[in-house]
Amino acid sequence: MKPVISELTTNAYAKINLSLDILGTRPDGYHEVCMIMQSLVLHDTLTLRITDGSGISMTCSDTSLPADETNLAYRAADLFCKTYTIADGISIHLEKVIPVAAGLAGGSSDAAAVLRGLNTMYGSPATPEELAALGVTLGADIPYCLMLGTVLSEGIGEKLTPLPPAPDFYCLLVKPSAGASTKQIYTEYDSLVQTESIPHPDTEALLSALKKRNRKALVSGLCNVLEPVTVKLVPEIDTIKNTLRTFGAEGVLMSGSGPTVFALFSDVAKSKRAEAHMRETGYASGTFFTSFYRPAK
Ligand code: ATP
Repeated sequence: MKPVISELTTNAYAKINLSLDILGTRPDGYHEVCMIMQSLVLHDTLTLRITDGSGISMTCSDTSLPADETNLAYRAADLFCKTYTIADGISIHLEKVIPVAAGLAGGSSDAAAVLRGLNTMYGSPATPEELAALGVTLGADIPYCLMLGTVLSEGIGEKLTPLPPAPDFYCLLVKPSAGASTKQIYTEYDSLVQTESIPHPDTEALLSALKKRNRKALVSGLCNVLEPVTVKLVPEIDTIKNTLRTFGAEGVLMSGSGPTVFALFSDVAKSKRAEAHMRETGYASGTFFTSFYRPAK
């Protein structure tokens, strides 16, 4: 297969979960989820190039991340090249901005950006459905990261329904210094549900809030079943949530398996005051001011 474009720079957007529910566990161990996803303007940037040699090479601005065959961006390129028998050399440069192991799907989004980018560079051999089917073999969040916007995600993350775009909010992300392993949090959830009653989101109410563009109902319905699990391991999450509320955040929730907390504001001045406070109180490198991202149609 011959490329039609030899170099491409593309964005990989972070996501938050406006809701995250677990409906059960499948016989293969995967959790059946029901989540409302929202992409953010905050993004990594990937530059993809066809090179003279062969094989995949990678560099990354964050030297704490491996830039080798264990990186999801590398694995996505490898999978794409094997599926479409591409023998060209491919170089990937990843400018990492999205915090790692934070519940913001940074790795999945990088992989999705590589799949989308290479597909464009090789003249679109894959349909969007084929690209999503390829992506889900690398990670359950990758089909969503290919679609972006406000989306209902079901199954293990492969059943996607685009929703009316969420109303605009300023979004402040605050990441505690501790990381959270997605696998560990899901395992801990399985044991916690045996002994404790965990609040579940009212997904229907949230879907109706989105349809009616009801900001109040949307922020009051934010709910993530994994939050009580991660809070047990990272109690700082509760402290951050309470602080952000005192600064006037209308809705505050942990994203994904955590530990990042997001706060939604309608008022830019309040969100900027909260940002400055978090930066001054030990979260200088873990605070990100962003907003909702709407993909172009
Ligand atoms: P999710 O919300 O999908 O569970 P996350 O935001 O919690 O993801 P990631 O930032 O995607 O977590 O990182 C999870 C793990 O994947 C990290 O431990 C990291 O070492 C590994 N990883 C591999 N490739 C990447 C990448 N390109 N960016 C970030 N992490 C990566």
